[in-house]
Amino acid sequence: MNQVEKSIFSQIIDRELPAQIVYEDENTIAFLDINPLTPGHTLVVPKKPFVNVFDGDEEILGEMMQVGSKIAKAQKKAGLAEGVNLIMSNETVAGQEVSHAHLHVIPRFTNDGVNFHNPSTPYQAGEAEEVCKQLTDAVK
Ligand code: AMP
Repeated sequence: MNQVEKSIFSQIIDRELPAQIVYEDENTIAFLDINPLTPGHTLVVPKKPFVNVFDGDEEILGEMMQVGSKIAKAQKKAGLAEGVNLIMSNETVAGQEVSHAHLHVIPRFTNDGVNFHNPSTPYQAGEAEEVCKQLTDAVK
């Protein structure tokens, strides 16, 4: 995934495209998702564009989560949520459609019809230990 054209989200940041902006600070902006899973579904977006977790610096990724937390509390305070999902898709294979990083803050209610549950695949004998070693080696 590369970023040749100005993204939809950069156009929103520059007020070239309309959006319902719920929060903005020096480094981030948060606006309503145009196709909400539930009312109040908000995207938290870095103003300085990067594609996703693989090319973003950890400081701004951390700021996105801080703003996500602020939005989640606002959704609850406003009576728009009982709970929330904070979700970031990274790369097409993971469902990322817009090549400008964004964190979804999705309000949840009992029986809201949203479903993220998938069947899990148990590890075979010894597999968890091997996968854990691969990751601990890679994370150094
Ligand atoms: P993702 O699939 O994680 O890349 O999410 C991209 C999200 O951007 C989708 O949920 C879209 O509904 C949302 N989206 C696309 N265009 C706009 C727009 N102009 N304003 C607000 N949200 C948008």
